[in-house]
Amino acid sequence: MSIQAIDHSSIHRLTSGQVVIDLQTAVKELLENALDAGATSVVIQFREHGVESIEVQDNGRGISEENWAGIALKHHTSKLTSFADLDSVATLGFRGEALSSLCGTATLSIITATAETVPAGTNLSFAHSGECIVGGKAARSKGTTVVVKELFKALPVRRKELIKNAKREFGKAVDLVQSYALIKTGCRFEVKNVVKGKSSTHLQTPPAASVRANFSSIFSPKSLVTMMDLDLDLDVEADKSVLKWSEDRSGRSTQVLVKGLVSKPTTGNGRTASNRQFFYVNGRPFAPAKVAKAFNEVYKTFNTGSFPAIVADFQLPPDAYDVNVSPDKRTIFLHSEGNLITALKAALEEIFQPSRSTFAMSTI
Ligand code: ADP
Ligand code: MG
Repeated sequence: MSIQAIDHSSIHRLTSGQVVIDLQTAVKELLENALDAGATSVVIQFREHGVESIEVQDNGRGISEENWAGIALKHHTSKLTSFADLDSVATLGFRGEALSSLCGTATLSIITATAETVPAGTNLSFAHSGECIVGGKAARSKGTTVVVKELFKALPVRRKELIKNAKREFGKAVDLVQSYALIKTGCRFEVKNVVKGKSSTHLQTPPAASVRANFSSIFSPKSLVTMMDLDLDLDVEADKSVLKWSEDRSGRSTQVLVKGLVSKPTTGNGRTASNRQFFYVNGRPFAPAKVAKAFNEVYKTFNTGSFPAIVADFQLPPDAYDVNVSPDKRTIFLHSEGNLITALKAALEEIFQPSRSTFAMSTI
């Protein structure tokens, strides 16, 4: 066979399926967009566990008219203009792929209003190519509502899987919203699911002022009592094997703050390692197997019967990690991870020392 270029619409379908992998990633992208728009309220409504539709309603800044045409075009974003910006990216999204990918595999529509247009919003619909079709006006307070219908209808095998595993996939999506609801302060979250016309609420948090308050409202005030504050200040030496990074900062070390909550050594959170363990880099959820292992290993030396609950936000400079590893941004590459883990373990040992934790509790 001769080598030929794949046609544009096939490429669109091929790559879209890598960005939005499952229901959870679809929800994650929409949720991140709402948070990037400065929302203080995010309401997510699933229909038939998300198989029929997902609707994410926010009260963020809305999308102004000059940006409508680019909303769902591949690699069109308001958050990044060149690769160099990636080192300083402060938003959750930056590649301009999510809405384009959702258009490529599902049906996307949006209602949006900005401070200038309220009380009117505009209905926007999109062709599978991402082309924006401007519809009529509707009453809308400031913010954006994005509706995704029939997720993966252009990828029949994946749609079948979604339908088959709808409840499990829905559960994973709710867990994901929970991980954002825990770390974000000042934002209320609500998750509803409408099945056969009947609505149920799966998560509801007030716009709390602290991670402690979020933890209490998500898991109960009683659970909060079993937790102690996590407030570590690590000095992480640059790892020479990371070329770019060590070039930039050879001989220097980076300050990494670890903030959140962890089970007191005397309590613990049961025998399942991954239960209630949440990790973030600058507020962005991630799943760092080695970091989680370090927490569990140190904790075990103080409490043999139980794993800890953990909410740990690693606060580090944007150039000390790389989120642009996989299309779905689930993997985050931490530079000098080995050195970070060594420093983390030492710091954890110190805070779990009985004398230290008694001191910490008495000062709360
Ligand atoms: P990215 O988030 O990487 O920029 P997306 O495809 O997720 O790419 O979104 C494309 C653009 O659409 C964003 O850059 C943003 O300007 C706009 N947008 C999407 N969702 C919202 C929202 N809920 N509120 C305001 N703007 C939004
Ligand atoms: Mg986005």
